[in-house]
Amino acid sequence: MSKTLDILGGLIEMLGPPVKVDHRRGWATWWCPFHPDAEKAGSSKKPNFGVHIEDGYWKCMRCGGSGGSLKSLSHKLGADWRPDPGAYTTQVVQDKDPTVPYLSEAMSAARSALMRSTAWEYLSGERGVQPNTSLIYGLGYGLPRPKVRKKTFKMAQESSLATDNGWWMWAEGIVYAEPPTRPVTIQVRHLRDKAPMKYQTWGRLMQPMGAWRCKPHTQMVVVVEGMIDMLIVAQALRHRRMDEVRVVYTAGATPAYTMLAWFTEHPEYEYLLIPDPDDAGFDWIEPVSEAIRKGDGKYEVRFPPGDLDPDEAVLSGWWPAELT
Ligand SMILES: [Zn+2]
Repeated sequence: MSKTLDILGGLIEMLGPPVKVDHRRGWATWWCPFHPDAEKAGSSKKPNFGVHIEDGYWKCMRCGGSGGSLKSLSHKLGADWRPDPGAYTTQVVQDKDPTVPYLSEAMSAARSALMRSTAWEYLSGERGVQPNTSLIYGLGYGLPRPKVRKKTFKMAQESSLATDNGWWMWAEGIVYAEPPTRPVTIQVRHLRDKAPMKYQTWGRLMQPMGAWRCKPHTQMVVVVEGMIDMLIVAQALRHRRMDEVRVVYTAGATPAYTMLAWFTEHPEYEYLLIPDPDDAGFDWIEPVSEAIRKGDGKYEVRFPPGDLDPDEAVLSGWWPAELT
């Protein structure tokens, strides 16, 4: 989790949602909790209380209250302080305009290359993913140097997806866009030996991956850690014609703040958490279940049998009792 999101999360717990988050300047603003700012007594008619979201420094432009950390802010607010439960919609200024939505040309190239790629050999041959499943999710193959227009390449450079020498960092991996049309997030599940990490993400993370398939009639959402776990569970759900159940993945054991917020904001679904059978899987349960509880949602945890990963377990015939 990035430090900025960490600080912002702490502030939202203390003060409620900010009036404005300016990622470009690194500040978030609230009506001041120490003077009647919300009544707009100030001549500016703008909130006067600002916090630097990279270091936690806070200051009111009107009453002059200030401090150097979230801890000092919490202390000054006192034990009886309760935040305003969110009367405002937050205005968010991005640090730069996202370029990922302009990468559809590159995504199309990646998609048409999948079936003839080493990534498909891996997905289908070793992991049991079927062509239909891959089509539904619009999976692609990370072409090291996709043939795209200059403009698209420039956008990819700005998103830090393409490097200056023309090589794309998603090279040889499985590429997934969330949502598949007009994506805000592009993510790769790396397959290269020397990849820097298992997953790499470009654009904005707005929700768990796969959440675009949740619809008003969705009743239950299965939550897993990995992309291939999601694909295999989705495939099994389709075979069982369980259209009221969807599955999402968090791309590893430490979900981003924005993903956790999504679980809190969607208590209308029942959740079934299927962790990986390792220590990281145990650690993963906590933040996800906490986020669900925070929104008064319901969840259950189901471990796959033996030491199998969720996808291996499902392919070997196991099926969670909650989904029958
Ligand atoms: Zn003030």
